[in-house]
Amino acid sequence: MKTTSKLPEKSEVLFSAKEIDLLVSKLAGEIGASLKGSERESIFICVLKGAWVFMADLVRKIPAPVEVDFLRASSYGQGTQSSGLVKVEIPHSLSVEGKDVYLLDEIVDTGRTLLELRGAFLAKGAASVKLVTLLDKKSRREVEIEPDFVGVEIPDVFVVGYGLDWSERYRDLPDIHSIITE
Ligand code: 5GP
Ligand code: MG
Repeated sequence: MKTTSKLPEKSEVLFSAKEIDLLVSKLAGEIGASLKGSERESIFICVLKGAWVFMADLVRKIPAPVEVDFLRASSYGQGTQSSGLVKVEIPHSLSVEGKDVYLLDEIVDTGRTLLELRGAFLAKGAASVKLVTLLDKKSRREVEIEPDFVGVEIPDVFVVGYGLDWSERYRDLPDIHSIITE
């Protein structure tokens, strides 16, 4: 049993592991249907580090063989507010030409990360880029971007667990917790 005792006092479980599992299953079903409708090759790209757990769970539920790859992006640094500056590293070896890209992030906040990455993949010749997220903090959006597949919309709270960190901690927690930081 995982211990959560190191979490700050002002936190609560927003989604339990069981609830997350249901959300991921729902997304896998929707994406499976979308894959059936395309003749092209597809590739699932995970935005590290936050989306690693989500990616692993999602691709194992998708009822079709899928190719996976990974890249890094960061905008939060050490704090709980987005810095507004997105740093992305797209490896040269990552080939998306002519493919349907499914870009996976665990949470969409300002929308800058996915906007930046979608542009970069279209410029690299992707046939399409579909945006997949487990959590959508829609009220925080600063740029025009609408994910194609959303697990669930959440209010403007800072969340950790299930891959999400606070200064590199709590990524290993099975539940998603909301934290009150002030
Ligand atoms: P965006 O570019 O949409 O502002 O930021 C997206 C990234 O910021 C997410 O992929 C995630 O890594 C980080 N992020 C956004 N909201 C939260 C949050 O509530 N908790 C944590 N731990 N990271 C977040
Ligand atoms: Mg992320």
